[in-house]
Amino acid sequence: VNHHSDDDCIFCKIIAGKIPSFKIAETDYTYAFLDIQPLSKGHALLIPKHHGKTLLDVPEEYLADLLPLAKKVAKAVTEEEGTGKEFNVLQNNGPLAHQVVQHVHFHIIPKPNKAEGLG
Ligand code: 5GP
Ligand code: ZN
Repeated sequence: VNHHSDDDCIFCKIIAGKIPSFKIAETDYTYAFLDIQPLSKGHALLIPKHHGKTLLDVPEEYLADLLPLAKKVAKAVTEEEGTGKEFNVLQNNGPLAHQVVQHVHFHIIPKPNKAEGLG
């Protein structure tokens, strides 16, 4: 698949391997990796390999691929030591909604069940 990308986008650079990341999983349409400033241990991001700013810009085939992978990633990161089985899925669209990186992404944020955990 030849994906639409933006040369100036940090997440497109991560997909292309031009910026290093800690990869969790990958499909033809989706890339999953650890957030560089985790809100809790295992905080993951899923991004469509298609560059688009918000959810409204993502073609259906990318969305259809992303959610099953989100389920697998959520299972994997909540099985990490020090995290609970519970988690939030968060997705910000636009600056008023606290979107900082202008390439659509889904956060998976484990809720730690130990006193020493963050968040
Ligand atoms: P937003 O506020 O846009 O929903 O969240 C953007 C997220 O991307 C933040 O949690 C931030 O820590 C993460 N992030 C920004 N730049 C990088 C990067 O270069 N690598 C990784 N792994 N995460 C990043
Ligand atoms: Zn991008």
